[in-house]
Parts: sequence; structure tokens; C-alpha cells
Amino acid sequence: MKIICIGRNYTEHIAELANERPSEPVVFLKPDTAILLHKQPFFIPPFSDDVHHEVEVVVKINRIGKHIEEKFAHKYYDEIGLGIDFTARDLQQKLKEQGLPWEKAKSFDGAAVVSREFIPKADLGNLNDLSFELYKNDTLQQSGNTSHMLFNIDTIIAHVSQYFTLKIGDLIFTGTPAGVSRVQENDTLKGMLAGREMFHIKVK
Ligand code: ZN
Repeated sequence: MKIICIGRNYTEHIAELANERPSEPVVFLKPDTAILLHKQPFFIPPFSDDVHHEVEVVVKINRIGKHIEEKFAHKYYDEIGLGIDFTARDLQQKLKEQGLPWEKAKSFDGAAVVSREFIPKADLGNLNDLSFELYKNDTLQQSGNTSHMLFNIDTIIAHVSQYFTLKIGDLIFTGTPAGVSRVQENDTLKGMLAGREMFHIKVK
């Protein structure tokens, strides 16, 4: 399986990193080895002093598809989860300045938290109006709503499937809202989606 991630999908997060607003989705991948194993802490990697959490709504693909039309995109997923796109911001900044790919900053081991539970979309109602939050040490740190996405889930699926065949079990991280911050040893990170706790991890 593969993890497809969308960057710069929430206006306020674009502003906090002083990035440009994209005219089409910004796409990058993480390998399956990036998934943080269940019940394991997140270890800050030795090559970064500035790892940020990015809480994101995650879509699980349930059908194989290529060149999916936006109006049919909803047929390619049944469940929604929550994750963290951990980012070594210092390394990403250096790579960006050099015009190089971001993978080392985004795709290292443990850099993808994926909730164990996925919620059937039938239980969530309007997917373009989903609230989600990240609490750091029990303080609200990021608060998002999918209504603020520049590109919604179906648009993202239509776009990325022009480039990559989507397979069963692939995950799509849909971008982070504002409020990203550096994690430190002993932090706890709790993710909420539509009022439900989706993950609770410790930083080491
Ligand atoms: Zn992200």
C-alpha cells in the first residue's frame, strides 16, 4: 500500500508557513514503513530539532481505480480516519530552499500516525463539514474543519488518480489546518474526529 499526502490544503496553514496558495493539489508520498506501529511512541529522529505534528483527515481507499471522475470518487472509500503527518520542518525547509524533494523530511520511519479505527462515512454525515482536533498535552493545538479545505476529498481523489492507480488499502492524508507546532520529548498527542478520540500517542 501507499500513502498519498496533500500539502497546503488549508488557507491558514499556508499562511503560517508563508507558502503560496496552490492552483492544484500539492502531492507527495510516504512509504508503508512510515506508519507508526500501534501503541508505539513516536521517536524524534536524530536528524531533526524541529519535528512538527500535522493532524489530518485520512481517507482509506477500498477499490482499485485510475482516472477517477470526481462525481464517482465517493465510490472509492467507505471509511474515514485521522492521522498525523510528522514533518521534520528544519530539514524540509533546507530541501525546499535547494529545490529538492521533501521525502527525507516527511517519510522517515514513524512519520505517519494512522488511527486504528476508521469511521464509516455513513456515520459521519457531510464529509465536507467534519471537525477534527489535535490536543498536545491536553491543550487544544490544532482545530480544523474539512469545509476549509481548498480541495475536498473527491477532488483530491480525482486529481491523484490521474497520476497513481489507487489500490485497496491506500491512504490519503488530506492536509493540515493551522496550528502546527514542534513536538518535544514526553509530549502526548491526542487526535479527535467528529468528537471521537482516534489516537493518543506519546513522544520520545
Ligand atoms: Zn501534511
